[in-house]
Amino acid sequence: MKPAAFAYHAPATLAEGVALLAEFGDTAKIIAGGQSLIPMLALRLAAFEHLVDIGRLPELRGIEKGEATVRIGAGTTQATIERSAAAVPLLARATPLIGHFQIRNRGTLGGSIAHADAAAEYPAVALTLDADMEAISAAGRRNIPAADFFTGMWSTALADDEVLANVTFPVWPGRTGFAIEEFARRHGDFAIAGATVAIEVDAGNRIRRCGIGLFGLGSTPERAVTAEGDLTGRDIADVVPDDLGRTAVSGLRSVPSDLHGPAEYRKRVGAAMVARAWRRACAEARDG
Ligand SMILES: Cc1cc2nc3c(=O)[nH]c(=O)nc-3n(C[C@H](O)[C@H](O)[C@H](O)COP(=O)(O)OP(=O)(O)OC[C@H]3O[C@@H](n4cnc5c(N)ncnc54)[C@H](O)[C@@H]3O)c2cc1C
Repeated sequence: MKPAAFAYHAPATLAEGVALLAEFGDTAKIIAGGQSLIPMLALRLAAFEHLVDIGRLPELRGIEKGEATVRIGAGTTQATIERSAAAVPLLARATPLIGHFQIRNRGTLGGSIAHADAAAEYPAVALTLDADMEAISAAGRRNIPAADFFTGMWSTALADDEVLANVTFPVWPGRTGFAIEEFARRHGDFAIAGATVAIEVDAGNRIRRCGIGLFGLGSTPERAVTAEGDLTGRDIADVVPDDLGRTAVSGLRSVPSDLHGPAEYRKRVGAAMVARAWRRACAEARDG
């Protein structure tokens, strides 16, 4: 199928882009890499009178590494992030799991996070690392913590006239480990269930802080808060990964059932992914 007709706008600056969004309101949609939006338009699952292309704006591209944070322009392609492994290790490790390289060459960080697919890798990484989202509109700028950003199935705290401009990730110093694990039917497919783990330990291998993210297991990415709550101060050797996995998925209330399997199956897969990611992240932190 072909998309319904739309007017295409290619602003030269971000200021021009947000002015167009303010002018056209909910008849306009941002397009970045087009890797999620174009299929939806082509299948006529969505239709907009105006597309505002932010994909070429230099202001939205680039990776700035500071002492305590890494700020990444929302328009930075996934392929660029994949090549910048040192900047945010968990993000770089998640990237090869997104589709295929042709998709990552065009798909952007901001597009994936703004699209907010509950089975996508980047939203779960942003949540796990407590990233900060900077939104810009004609009215100004505001910052939205990842914990408040994902509001439902494919929906976010962004207003129709706001562009996600930057995503800022805290740098985790010291002895750290990061891992992402997912199960998909074929390489390049969205995950049936997946997990992210970030961990920091002290010199005695006691857990200073950790984040556990889940994807494919609800209507939004989730933090496994019950499992995390119990971990600070414990020796990593005392945590049983399989038990942790079961605890992490135990509180989930909206696990999807679909043609890939019932909710109970996804939960079991999710628990196994948490256990696997935990083992890998701990091994890295112990050796680090
Ligand atoms: C075959 C295939 C397999 C895929 N597999 C995976 C996968 O395994 N994992 C995965 O995570 N993704 C997967 N994707 C999706 C892909 O990663 C997309 O790149 C990503 O979801 C959207 O990024 P984009 O830049 O292409 O955004 P677009 O498609 O241009 O936009 C997506 C949505 O985000 C909005 N948007 C985009 N940028 C911004 C911004 N800066 N501010 C506000 N709103 C914005 C758009 O308005 C639109 O609603 C797959 C896609 C395909 C076609």
